[in-house]
Amino acid sequence: MILYPRLYIDNVRCIKIDFLNKNNIKAIILDMDNTIIDLSKNIPEGTKEWVDSLKKHGIKFCIVSNSIHKDKVIKIANELGIDVFILFAKKPLKSGFKKAMKILNIKPCNIAAVGDQIFTDVIGANRCGMYSILVKPIDRKDILITKIKRPIENYIINKYLKKKGNKDVF
Ligand SMILES: [Mg+2]
Repeated sequence: MILYPRLYIDNVRCIKIDFLNKNNIKAIILDMDNTIIDLSKNIPEGTKEWVDSLKKHGIKFCIVSNSIHKDKVIKIANELGIDVFILFAKKPLKSGFKKAMKILNIKPCNIAAVGDQIFTDVIGANRCGMYSILVKPIDRKDILITKIKRPIENYIINKYLKKKGNKDVF
């Protein structure tokens, strides 16, 4: 199901090395807004440490954002020590993910793509054959366009959780 994530978790820091190894994941593509920063551009405590610890295990990172604000993306990428980032990715289109894949030089089946939105992050990742991970948005506030989509996303998430029960839907 293209609308469903492979995994639904509270935040990026729930992604542990054991899980990545078990699923043969070598790289993580991160969405930016409401996934690694809140709307005031703050990075939640522990996020940098989380990136560092996974990097020590050889996991590669890339930020793929629909944002057009270059300075903002560069600042966040620098703060997290992530040197690969794609701006204006136009998710759920494949182009941004494909660029990331090429730079990372890792096959899509070995990449996890993480984000807070079904209609951009999850669909895009699923279309590319990556391991899609949905996180809860850091901020309750959203920009207008996202605010409109949230009730529909919540409906899909509830259906997903019901279907999933205790078993893996994939
Ligand atoms: Mg987002």
